[in-house]
Amino acid sequence: MSGRAVAELAAADQRHVWHPFTAMHEWCDPDDPPLVLVRGEGATLIDTEGNRYFDGNSSIWTNVHGHGHPRLVEAIRRQAGSLAHASFLGTTNVPAIELAEALVRAAPGDRLTRVFYSDDGSTAIECALRLALQFRQLVGEDERRTFVAFEGAYHGDTLGAASLGGIDLFHGRLAGLGVPVRRVASIGELEEAGEPLAESVAAVVIEPLVQGAAGMRTWPRGLLADLRAWCDRHGVHLILDEVMTGFGRTGTLFACEQENVVPDFLALAKGLTGGTVPLAATLTTDAIFAAFVGEPRERTTFHYGHSYSGNPVGCAAALASLAVFEEERVLERIRPRIARLGERLAALASAHRRVGEVRQCGLIAGIDLVRDAGTRESFPRERRAGAAVCRRARRHGLLTRPIGDTVVLMPPLCTTADELDAAVDALETALADELARA
Ligand SMILES: *Cc1c(COP(=O)(O)O)cnc(C)c1O
Repeated sequence: MSGRAVAELAAADQRHVWHPFTAMHEWCDPDDPPLVLVRGEGATLIDTEGNRYFDGNSSIWTNVHGHGHPRLVEAIRRQAGSLAHASFLGTTNVPAIELAEALVRAAPGDRLTRVFYSDDGSTAIECALRLALQFRQLVGEDERRTFVAFEGAYHGDTLGAASLGGIDLFHGRLAGLGVPVRRVASIGELEEAGEPLAESVAAVVIEPLVQGAAGMRTWPRGLLADLRAWCDRHGVHLILDEVMTGFGRTGTLFACEQENVVPDFLALAKGLTGGTVPLAATLTTDAIFAAFVGEPRERTTFHYGHSYSGNPVGCAAALASLAVFEEERVLERIRPRIARLGERLAALASAHRRVGEVRQCGLIAGIDLVRDAGTRESFPRERRAGAAVCRRARRHGLLTRPIGDTVVLMPPLCTTADELDAAVDALETALADELARA
């Protein structure tokens, strides 16, 4: 690490860096220097002072097997040494080929057979939108150009992906921009709108089982299968955004497996490389791919891509991550962890009057902080209870980030039983410290 003093580094950050989703006025407070991280070991992050923190939100929902996993580090090191990057426009590379094969094998069902690479969750979604639109044009259904998205949805920050978003704080400024969107709260609303809507829709986009940025809001069981049935009845494609839910987070490799649903487009990013380096993939079917295959004069080509498409280092990391799932029987190993998290959260909710609803899906949890658990009365916004509790939890060795007054707990899949207990203990202590008074 750099030999510079921590205070100097922190000040340089405050002077020159612009952080995402961050109120920079607060961030730049000279009396409140940022936490500078230098190392990761398993589920632990370590700062410049040697303080250790449990990575309570898996580094914004990306980390899977822990930091510094030797299998992943070695794969990245080896690939970076032989070929860090080469163009995917006109040439190909070994890890990208092998990862495509591995993803097709791992994907739900047997019809997701084509893999289009990009860089992050937003571009994985952007790519699905562009494919869905161009597909309709290619098959002479130009009138199908609307996307259905849900209230509370979050699908990324590039303009097309962001226009699907249903969170006012993030997306309110984009009203009327981006792709045409019909936003609905439920399938019932879709059914009521009937044929006139259905006939104008290219695809429905949803985060399966749980909406992340909405505050870890779990969908009613069966909704995903019902949505697939609605899409099938109306000739509409289904785009599943498994950017957060993919790679074991919900207890199965992909969330949609839990309702036996296979989408027409599957967007993957965050956990794809185990949370090490950026890479994304959009999987689709041969039926859709076939429409894009034609003579040059038919102008069927998909003119979309990014400089780092098919990046060999990212693909090597993703291959290693998939191998770890098998070698370490990760999905089996997390089962008791999921159960333990459930027990601890239930105990927390019943013991603490500041804990309202608690939602869990696999190793994803959202814990609502309320003024009174009995009445579910919320804290005033300016109290910033979620931020205060997460801030306090740091002192007890838990690092996480709230969504409003919902505390997110999303331990990496490698988390041990003791680490999980310590993390919930830290949250409990922080709750008691911070919210005992009104
Ligand atoms: C994080 C996220 C995205 C956007 O991914 P980025 O890598 O941040 O661009 C899209 N969809 C969901 C469900 C996400 O959680």
